[in-house]
Amino acid sequence: MIDINTKVLGLMGYPLAHSLSPRLHNYYIKEHDLNYVYLPFEVKPENFSDAVVGLKAINFRGVNITIPYKEKIIDHLDSISEQAQHIGAVNTVVNEDGCLYGYNTDAPGFIRMLKEDGGFDIEGKKAVIIGAGGASKAVGFALCKNGIKEILLLNRTPARANELVELWQEIYSDVIISYGGLRDDSYREIFKKFHLIIDTTPVGMAPETDVKPVISPQYLHSDLLIVDLVYNPLETVLIREAKKLGARTLNGMSMLLYQGIESFSLWTGIKPEDTGLKNGLFDR
Ligand code: NAP
Repeated sequence: MIDINTKVLGLMGYPLAHSLSPRLHNYYIKEHDLNYVYLPFEVKPENFSDAVVGLKAINFRGVNITIPYKEKIIDHLDSISEQAQHIGAVNTVVNEDGCLYGYNTDAPGFIRMLKEDGGFDIEGKKAVIIGAGGASKAVGFALCKNGIKEILLLNRTPARANELVELWQEIYSDVIISYGGLRDDSYREIFKKFHLIIDTTPVGMAPETDVKPVISPQYLHSDLLIVDLVYNPLETVLIREAKKLGARTLNGMSMLLYQGIESFSLWTGIKPEDTGLKNGLFDR
């Protein structure tokens, strides 16, 4: 029952129609019989600063931060974890007695998905990352930290990719890192040297599910593991095309669960074990 002691959690982003985080966290709250509630807040860019101030004013316990605010939130926080600082993006905020602390749970969530669901051994491998926003920052950092040999970062705005490459290279000088734009026919040959492609853009996310993939399927090959961080729908056009080629694929559902478990633990001190939601979250 909601009462004066109910602790409030939430999600801030724009837009949010695609998000399953409220279902996920309210499921865990119920499972563990906690007096918490998790609510979605679609915050327009012009209201973002006021909304963050409001978190303290009405004593939220914490929030997840999603597209497009994972980088913007940092300037509004009192402190951020060392890992979130290196990544340059925050997806989880905890309110401790009026101080807002920022964390990044996307990075461990991504690595857990790659290892447990993809059976992928990162050490010495070569990866293409598409997109240079908040999710890309977590993915690139996590790959560098876990022994990737080479990264090619492709983005619609190459200058943004360049900034990210300089950041990663400063910390991980032993990783070979380069960047480029999205459309280049030489990728068909170049991608043959790579083992993993991760699409970190929102392209294909509901409600605009029928759009063309951000990179041309003709650049792909059957030896690749193709990861699309989008989880709604479970099968984007990119994933569908990759399957047709015989490539292995992962959607973003497991990462959603794994990063969510880490966030939930930061707010409540409880780490849910249940990952059986992978196939059932849409039905909750
Ligand atoms: P973001 O910070 O806004 O970054 C978006 C990136 O995608 C930017 O690099 C942007 O390029 C690029 N992009 C956007 N629209 C594009 C288009 N039409 N064509 C080509 N590139 C485009 O967003 P984010 O926070 O990184 O989130 C990105 C996606 O990852 C979302 O769908 C989110 O739901 C998903 N995600 C999933 C999980 C999970 O747990 N499964 C976790 C994190 C994120 P420019 O730099 O040129 O603008």
